[in-house]
Amino acid sequence: MLYRLTSLCLVAVAATLALPAQDDVDPPKLAPAKLKALIIDGQNNHNWRQTTPLLRATLQRSGCFVVDVATSPGNKDELKSFAPEFSDYDVVVSNYNGQLWPKATREAFGEYVRGGGGFVSVHAADNAFPNWKDYNLMIGVGGWGGRSEKSGPYVRWRGGEIVRDTGPGRGGSHGRRHQFALDVRDGEHPITKGLPERFLHCADELYDRLRGPAEHLTVLATAFSDKKTGGSGEHEPLLMVIDFGEGRCFHTALGHDPTAMKCVAFQVTLVRGCEWAATGKVTTAVPKSFPGSAAVAVHDPLAEQPK
Ligand code: ZN
Repeated sequence: MLYRLTSLCLVAVAATLALPAQDDVDPPKLAPAKLKALIIDGQNNHNWRQTTPLLRATLQRSGCFVVDVATSPGNKDELKSFAPEFSDYDVVVSNYNGQLWPKATREAFGEYVRGGGGFVSVHAADNAFPNWKDYNLMIGVGGWGGRSEKSGPYVRWRGGEIVRDTGPGRGGSHGRRHQFALDVRDGEHPITKGLPERFLHCADELYDRLRGPAEHLTVLATAFSDKKTGGSGEHEPLLMVIDFGEGRCFHTALGHDPTAMKCVAFQVTLVRGCEWAATGKVTTAVPKSFPGSAAVAVHDPLAEQPK
């Protein structure tokens, strides 16, 4: 052991001696400052008490983020004082599907994203706020809450291209939970660059018939919603990006429950989506464990937490 240490020291000394003149030395590489993320929860028709810890751990364990959580009151009167400091964060992640926020909070959130903030909508967050115009522009498409052709088109992959379908019909549905494949439709976007063209996702709700303004919206990945599992028979958009003013929004329709959130496909696309929404770039690598089309990959981000 002593020999080994000595050898390492010698290597270090040799490396020092071999350094070029000071002017040629690159400045020391500092660890990048962590991005600040805020998860919003507190009301949802899904079990946010179970899923927020998974979202939080996934972001923290990526090494890119420090994460705070803003839990809204569940009571309408108390909700009047719900006013997170959005501008303190690089990205706001919504795990919220509930009562309308107060007007001042809605306006502050709109200003935050329009001014260059990042926003990420997870699963049922795209059910929220059917009548809040700016929010629907940020999510691009949404479901339920009375959404219909008045909300905007369906967005589908048909015949090798993305098609906006303005035909009549409800907004928002899903068939039985099952494993399904996602097909990357834009592999050049920073979020999807380097991902396999097709990858499997764990059992989840495959949202279909989402509709909304779909302005400045780019579909990154779709999944085929098979009528055999109660779906629409269409290739439905499940990972999307939307420009809103100077802000960047990432919309993942995945993530119904812990089973879906313990899927590596969900986690990696979430982390990359959050980083892109925060900065416009993605530096997190695609891990070797990322699934292809043969089998899902599962990882519990709450296991092996550093002590
Ligand atoms: Zn769900």
